[in-house]
Amino acid sequence: MPASKSELHKQAVDPQLDLNKLRGLGPKRREALEAMGVSNQRELLLLFPRSYDDWSTLTPLSEVQEPGLYTFRAEIANRPQFSRRGKLSWLRLRLWDGVTSVQATYFNQPWLREKFQPGDSYIFHGKLDLSGPRKTTINPAFISTDLADQLGMLAIYPLKQGLTQKLLRAAVDQALAQGLASRFTDPLPAQARQDYGLSSLDYALHKIHQPQNPYELSLARKRLAFDELFLLRAAMQFFGQEDLTQLEAPALVTSDRIKAGMRDLRESLPFELTRSQVEAINDVLRDLRQSKPMNRLLQGDVGSGKTMVALFAAAYVGLAGGQSLLMAPTSILAEQHYATFQPYFQSIGLKVNLLLGSTKAADRRSLAEACQSGETSLLIGTHALLQEDLHFQNLVLAITDEQHRFGVKQRANLGSLKQTGGQVPHRLLMTATPIPRSFAMIFFHDLDMSIMRDMPSGRQEVITEIASSQDLPRVYARMRAELENGGQAYVICPLIEESEKTDWESAETTYRDLAERVFPDFRLALLHGRLKAEEKDTIMEAFVDKKIDILVSTTVVEVGVDNQEASIILIKSAERFGLAQLHQLRGRVGRGERQSYCFLHSDSDQDTAQERLQTLVQHTDGFALAEVDLKMRGPGDFLGTRQHGLPSFQLLNIYDDQTILREVNALIDQIDQWPESERSQELDLISCALSERYPHLERGLVL
Ligand code: ADP
Ligand code: MG
Repeated sequence: MPASKSELHKQAVDPQLDLNKLRGLGPKRREALEAMGVSNQRELLLLFPRSYDDWSTLTPLSEVQEPGLYTFRAEIANRPQFSRRGKLSWLRLRLWDGVTSVQATYFNQPWLREKFQPGDSYIFHGKLDLSGPRKTTINPAFISTDLADQLGMLAIYPLKQGLTQKLLRAAVDQALAQGLASRFTDPLPAQARQDYGLSSLDYALHKIHQPQNPYELSLARKRLAFDELFLLRAAMQFFGQEDLTQLEAPALVTSDRIKAGMRDLRESLPFELTRSQVEAINDVLRDLRQSKPMNRLLQGDVGSGKTMVALFAAAYVGLAGGQSLLMAPTSILAEQHYATFQPYFQSIGLKVNLLLGSTKAADRRSLAEACQSGETSLLIGTHALLQEDLHFQNLVLAITDEQHRFGVKQRANLGSLKQTGGQVPHRLLMTATPIPRSFAMIFFHDLDMSIMRDMPSGRQEVITEIASSQDLPRVYARMRAELENGGQAYVICPLIEESEKTDWESAETTYRDLAERVFPDFRLALLHGRLKAEEKDTIMEAFVDKKIDILVSTTVVEVGVDNQEASIILIKSAERFGLAQLHQLRGRVGRGERQSYCFLHSDSDQDTAQERLQTLVQHTDGFALAEVDLKMRGPGDFLGTRQHGLPSFQLLNIYDDQTILREVNALIDQIDQWPESERSQELDLISCALSERYPHLERGLVL
């Protein structure tokens, strides 16, 4: 029987689900788990392994022809040799399986000297290297041969400092042993499980953590990936959306006067609009003339000139006597937009206002009046504007810049910007985060898209290179040359302060090192999220005004900021950032006609990290990059999805799981057709399952 909503609520606060009910999880470790979004046992079971160590296949050593990860049974053939130099110690021993031998080395585990007795047998699991005269392996894992018949696949979890695989496996094992898996709400109709060959939820939750072999894992994965998509699609279909078809927006009527104003505006630009800009503007103006509310996503790579589309749309609305709202993610960006719009609007006789968190109360009141009286044609501010209790005389258009998060709450909020007469504004969302078509088709079926493919002419591709710490002197020399040539530089770091826990480059240390040692003869500034808004603005303005040569910063500069003279950016510990974010950061340079450079600093020797950075070197087109990124991200690797603003599927891979996509769509359509009583029962189940598996949903579905 499915849990009812009230039972579910009880479960959510059920002290039995506390992590402290599990052995081995003290306060420190619970804290580390919380940092990973795991605050109770249910969330623990929903933390799926990112990969598995397959111990289920034993390979005779003589059959090993390729280097790689193997599980093999072998005997300790000699007395281990122990050596030590300073802090480093190592233990060398020969393993023999009766036919072939392997030399194993264990670093810094001196106690193994007593443990490994010649003649003892173990099952080993490790990487075999075949490059030397004999097979070698370093720090292979091992277990007793008594366990040979229970060998399965060992889960590898994403970890945070203070946690170990062993600890997580043991904790998960306890939760499973107590039957927690069977207490999840199963949202799938029984018939659907049969139709699509899906395992029970209980089975899947067990086997995703403790599969005995790859087949069991594939069953578990299919079921849970199906659920991921099913629940999110169902949320969109049945709960998330307002039905825009029922609502009306103001339909504008063009006149000769408006046309003349638009022509003036176009002629006052210092450049020609690109074809993409013209097309996007036309898309928007066409929508504004209809009473069906526009819901349009404008996608254009960083630097493609989206602001112009917003300018023309808002000007059109203003000339037609309506009002617009332009929301930006940061006050820096809002101010920059204001500075861009103000002269153009003034020249065609329209009024623009700026509303920031720092705006004084008295100014706020007069702003509110200007909105209500209709005097203001365009109000620019941060997303926080949404929270304001603003009344417009005739709000026609709401533009959101750099929209990455499509929260249900946010949509609802926009919907609440109703006005007398019950009309809603048209909406234009602008983003540089490319949402691949394949993805958009699934999630934004109610959303129209305008895509800007071409860049303003005269742009040169940003030259991108990967640089290790050893290469930094060369990078700094390049930077010096740019600065001496009138350019400006960004240096981006992942963290503010040096912390013992990580080796991430800290902005503060980097700033000091550069200011004192490398560039004492240039003007540097440090920008980070802990500064007050006004301090940030002052620094940004100084940078745009060329009073600062090098801006050392955390990612607060990530979105939108436009400085045409910035021609070089160094991103330290680049492997820490998501691909989309790196692309955004790179977009801070190459915005004018200067040849620009982007250096991705990384000392990571992980193949995946290098591979990810390499894709940035190869692709400068954000759309191509997004497709590559999505293909590369295998199941379980959801690093960087947040930056995309895409739901973080842990298991579903939208490229490999095409069958699941089709099946889920069919099932959703089916449920939609069900008789009311069955349908509403099913929706209850879905809603329970959603709140169990996505407890954060309440705060807005991030899509
Ligand atoms: P984004 O799409 O990243 O928001 P912006 O709108 O900030 O890009 O535009 C980037 C820069 O390109 C701005 O300095 C802007 O003035 C300039 N720009 C916009 N459109 C054109 C154009 N058609 N020709 C030349 N420069 C343009
Ligand atoms: Mg922009």
